[in-house]
Amino acid sequence: MVVQLRYNFRVYPTAGQQTELSKAFGCARVVFNDGLRLRQQAREAGLAYVPDGELSRRVITEAKLTPQRAWLGEVSAVVLQQALADLNTAYRNFFNSLSGRRKGRMVAPPRFRSRKDNRQAIRFTRNARFKVLDNGRLRLPKIGDVEVRWSRTLPPEASSVTVIKDAAGRYFASFVVTTAEDETLPPVESKVGIDLGLTHFAVLSDGTKVAAPKFLRRAARKLKRRQQALSRKQKGSANREKAVVKVARAHARVADTRRDWQHKLSTAIIRDNQAVYVEDLCVAGLGRTRLAKSVHDAGWAAFTGMLEYKAARYGRTFARVDRFFPSTRMCSQCGRTTEKMTLNVRSWDCPCGATHDRDVNAAINVLAAGQADNSNDRGARVRPGLVPAPRGEAVTHPDAARSTRSVEGTSVLQDGEDVNAWAC
Ligand SMILES: [Zn+2]
Repeated sequence: MVVQLRYNFRVYPTAGQQTELSKAFGCARVVFNDGLRLRQQAREAGLAYVPDGELSRRVITEAKLTPQRAWLGEVSAVVLQQALADLNTAYRNFFNSLSGRRKGRMVAPPRFRSRKDNRQAIRFTRNARFKVLDNGRLRLPKIGDVEVRWSRTLPPEASSVTVIKDAAGRYFASFVVTTAEDETLPPVESKVGIDLGLTHFAVLSDGTKVAAPKFLRRAARKLKRRQQALSRKQKGSANREKAVVKVARAHARVADTRRDWQHKLSTAIIRDNQAVYVEDLCVAGLGRTRLAKSVHDAGWAAFTGMLEYKAARYGRTFARVDRFFPSTRMCSQCGRTTEKMTLNVRSWDCPCGATHDRDVNAAINVLAAGQADNSNDRGARVRPGLVPAPRGEAVTHPDAARSTRSVEGTSVLQDGEDVNAWAC
């Protein structure tokens, strides 16, 4: 199995490089928007979908020859081609979603990018001859040699690098590296089931209860105060502008801290267990209820995504257990199912004599269901994890609340993922 990993590093462009970068962000945005407009106009005129090659010729090659777009020649051509590649992927995802070929949430059609988007990004591929120099700087064509904080070792042969400016005004370089599976960990005996609950972040079948750490809750409270302060500021005022940046920074910090903590937890669980099973909670469904806030704060989707790709990477088993399986109210000793319990019932007694902690019992059931084959005598089904897919970050995103994914770290991506952000 081949996995694509993302390696993210903070970069520190000089003032001059920042000017060149903003020029490149702008050109990429213009090409993206020109391409989108051209296709929309063709559609309104009842013409056929403009093919990728023709689009590239018209909005890049020919446009450069016109006085209105001559300045496109000042940035790397690869950056412009990659902006169009994003547009093409966004269209493909949209069409596949319409036809049902793409599973999951509906994908919206591509939208115009704006100068005011809180997140700007450009991508250089191998063709662009970006290079990590011996002095540790990152050479970007037509930008310069940019200083990088190398917080971990970047494997050689990165296939692309995306340069991102986030809402907090920070710059990141996000490299894509393709690796073959050769990181398998030595096998261990233990297997674990995980219940993702509301009182604890996670409860393991061995009885371990993991609470979201205090520092994270504190940071979330601080963010909330900042957001309230922002809402009191006059629209269009300089103070509001400043408050926006402060909220974005606080947001970035909470997201960074949460991700770090989840990385440590998921790594430990994968290292210590040969097989990991979690209940498929359908977080999207839960998110619409009044539990939404705590659910989203808990960030289970990101966490189970980490478990999934780390399992794939380190040769462990990972599976989600169907969520309609009654893990909470089934006795893990005798298999009897009791009536529904409200959320405040934390422990219960089974007629068989067993006393259960609600969450630990659920985790044990998840483990049992996970270990069973496709269909077992308790009627639970196991869906093997297919695609490791934490989200990408290479897209220009209009939403500040989601603009904090570009932190340093490593994650896995799949084809076309860069544009998946359109979907949510
Ligand atoms: Zn029982």
